[in-house]
Amino acid sequence: MPFIPYDQNQSYLFPPHLRDWVADDHPARVFSDLVDRLDIAGFKDAAVEGRPRYDTRMMLKVLLWGYANGIRASRKIEDRLRSDVVFMWLSGRQAPDFRTICDFRRCNEAAIDRLFAEVLVLAKALGMMRLGVVALDGTKVRASAGVKSFKQVKKWRAALDEAHKQVAEMLAEAEAADRADDEQYGDDKRGDELPEELADARERVARIEKVLARVDENAKDSLKVSSTDPEARFMHCPGGSMPAFNAQVAVTEDQLIVYADVTREPVDTNQLQPAVAGIERNCGAKPKRLLADAGYKSGPNMRLLEQAEVDGYLPETEEKNIGKVKRNYPELYGKEEFRYDPERDCYICPAGQVLRPTTRNRRRTRYSGSEAKVYRAARGVCLACPQRERCTKNKARAGRSVSRDDYDEERLRMRQKLAAEEGRAVYAKRKCLVEPVIGQLKIVGRLVQFLLRGILGAKIEFKWGAIAHNLLKLVRKVLAGEAEPVPAG
Ligand code: SF4
Repeated sequence: MPFIPYDQNQSYLFPPHLRDWVADDHPARVFSDLVDRLDIAGFKDAAVEGRPRYDTRMMLKVLLWGYANGIRASRKIEDRLRSDVVFMWLSGRQAPDFRTICDFRRCNEAAIDRLFAEVLVLAKALGMMRLGVVALDGTKVRASAGVKSFKQVKKWRAALDEAHKQVAEMLAEAEAADRADDEQYGDDKRGDELPEELADARERVARIEKVLARVDENAKDSLKVSSTDPEARFMHCPGGSMPAFNAQVAVTEDQLIVYADVTREPVDTNQLQPAVAGIERNCGAKPKRLLADAGYKSGPNMRLLEQAEVDGYLPETEEKNIGKVKRNYPELYGKEEFRYDPERDCYICPAGQVLRPTTRNRRRTRYSGSEAKVYRAARGVCLACPQRERCTKNKARAGRSVSRDDYDEERLRMRQKLAAEEGRAVYAKRKCLVEPVIGQLKIVGRLVQFLLRGILGAKIEFKWGAIAHNLLKLVRKVLAGEAEPVPAG
């Protein structure tokens, strides 16, 4: 069989047009069309000294298409602008260099929030973004800092003292040497002949001071801080701990991201309130239902959802363990079988005995705290109780105890909702909504490690990733014939 001849130096009678290289039904065409329809007010131009500015919309298309396809590094985007026909078409064959791309990405943090909300407005116009059920979750994303760059705060402070001492010693030595030189050669030396090591030592002082300046005043001595990204924190992740930030996403049933943010707190407890406020800010309304895992459980969070009239689903334990005690010990009395008497501040147990507050159970972590009263029957009452077998497996003399805090009513209502079959079915949706989106961000968008440093850098990058994700969802919807792009505004 003969080969089909090919010629790499083939010339064309008419120069080919770039648009001919991008198929009519290529997702980039819809992507570009959608970006054309966004209000991009507030973006700073991508300025290059001594040259006309690049078009902001072109920069947006290039950067967002990169994020949508897992090409985030500015050098790689620059490379694609010279080698990838889709990028070349999106940019109209302009090729801003990596510094321009990087500056544009970093310096537009205020406009990104607005663009994020703009994409959601567009999604609404396309018939997406049903704000009925929203699932919230957090995921750790590696920071741009190596493990070896971390030291405890006390070690940084000790290193700073050492560096200051070194500078002082070198200055004293230099002064002594100057005096000796003056005595030997006269005092007409310029005095700026400081040793190179002194410059190094001063630089070291400045470097450590910069690290410590980013540490909270009341940070514990044991806190580990990185010299490359002092705002990153060591966080527990599946497979060990690593320098990271905690990224938060709230996702609708259409798998659109309606809230994206990043925090330095490794636990999710305090992230529910900002998420509810953020969803309302971005979408103009609160979600009807909010599903979040046990990481967000707390009395204040349950109360917040009730007060905001959001139907919340916050279990106190992992999904597989919901109702486990009741399943394993169906004969045991649950807490709901103890009646609380608010006037006397006591519980009446199923045997009719009075349980009074005896101690307080205080829990305090770096990020949250709680305090509950513990109620018990009088000494010896439980030991002599004929219903003891149905009440406690605890063989100790203390017998059964019941605890209560300020949020007990909310907690009880939540427990009952999640114990019901309907509640479990609603909560089971959580995984199918938010976890695939986190997977897409991390696998397709390759958002497994931030390129920008600092909490602000991480926030900016995560939002770029979320906007690109949402645009891709809209592209799929349009390509599936389920929506027509609305006319440009
Ligand atoms: S064991 Fe104690 S708390 Fe339980 S039913 Fe008997 S008296 Fe009441």
